[in-house]
Amino acid sequence: MTTTILLDRDGVINFDSPYYILSPKDWQPIPGSLEAIAALTKSGIKIGLCSNQSALGRGMFQAEEMQAIHQKMMQAIDDTGGHIAHSAYCPHHPDAQCLCRKPKAGLLIETLTKLHSEAHDAFMIGDSLRDVQAALAANVEPILVQTGYGDAKDIAEKAQHIYPHIGIYPDLKSAIIALKLTSLSA
Ligand SMILES: [Mg+2]
Repeated sequence: MTTTILLDRDGVINFDSPYYILSPKDWQPIPGSLEAIAALTKSGIKIGLCSNQSALGRGMFQAEEMQAIHQKMMQAIDDTGGHIAHSAYCPHHPDAQCLCRKPKAGLLIETLTKLHSEAHDAFMIGDSLRDVQAALAANVEPILVQTGYGDAKDIAEKAQHIYPHIGIYPDLKSAIIALKLTSLSA
């Protein structure tokens, strides 16, 4: 039984950018994503956030700015009736060899533990191959959405190669509708 949805942030909840999301003004929700989070919350699904934020480790912005972006997102989610029960961020540089940065499983395992959720009761929804790989590493079922900034068709083909049964949807709202966990409809 699905009890838990793990979400990537950039390219899933908000528009991503090749220049990174470095200030609250850069954080702009993808249409339908806040509505989908609210519908999950109303249905009693636990929601966790698992987000790589290497811009911190790269020295491109400071923890205060990351916190301000987080606050803006949480306020927007709260304002629409949604709730994210645990947020896990990896702040490390890709070369740091940490255990949390996706495609490793660390952020997902941390979040499942905090939510008292089992991996087999969860989905991980992301826009990149790293999200798919991290989901599989954590024994969570991956779902791919096509709202990232990369070549969505290329990402989808690679994701299908890694995990042939993967669900691929245009965006978070359509993924949540397809999962039939909420009263949301098209
Ligand atoms: Mg992403």
